[in-house]
Amino acid sequence: MHTHEHQFDLEKKIAEFETRCRQKGLRITPQRVAVYKALVGTDTHPTAEEVHKMVRQDIHSISLDTVNRTLLTLAEIGAAFQVEGTGQPRRYDGGLENHQHFRCISCGQIVDFHYDPYENLHNPGQVLENCTILRKTVYLEGLCGECSDTPA
Ligand SMILES: [Zn+2]
Ligand SMILES: [Zn+2]
Repeated sequence: MHTHEHQFDLEKKIAEFETRCRQKGLRITPQRVAVYKALVGTDTHPTAEEVHKMVRQDIHSISLDTVNRTLLTLAEIGAAFQVEGTGQPRRYDGGLENHQHFRCISCGQIVDFHYDPYENLHNPGQVLENCTILRKTVYLEGLCGECSDTPA
């Protein structure tokens, strides 16, 4: 992707984020925008601590606690989500477009991928009668290419 396009994409995402905050009656603070920006600007699925490191470059005084709470708020309003299956520390994703995750159980990296059949999964209908499904995802676990090559 070209840098220019990427920049445009980021601005669009931030505008959408601000709209979402307004709809949810949430104040748009520089801290919230900075945390959101850090999260959507990376594909590493960072922990709160990693997001804190990124945000601190812009807002020196921001605490880890604030970043933690902000990430939880983002998840609550649907602007981000916690990556399933990663345990502690929780890892966050700001990529709301349909995608799936592969996690390497050895090095811990989480890779985004798109696989059409997974994206077109049917909802289980009667099995989850009274539930509303907000998000569907497929999560795969195993050894990444690099870790598969490493002799034990
Ligand atoms: Zn690995
Ligand atoms: Zn992801």
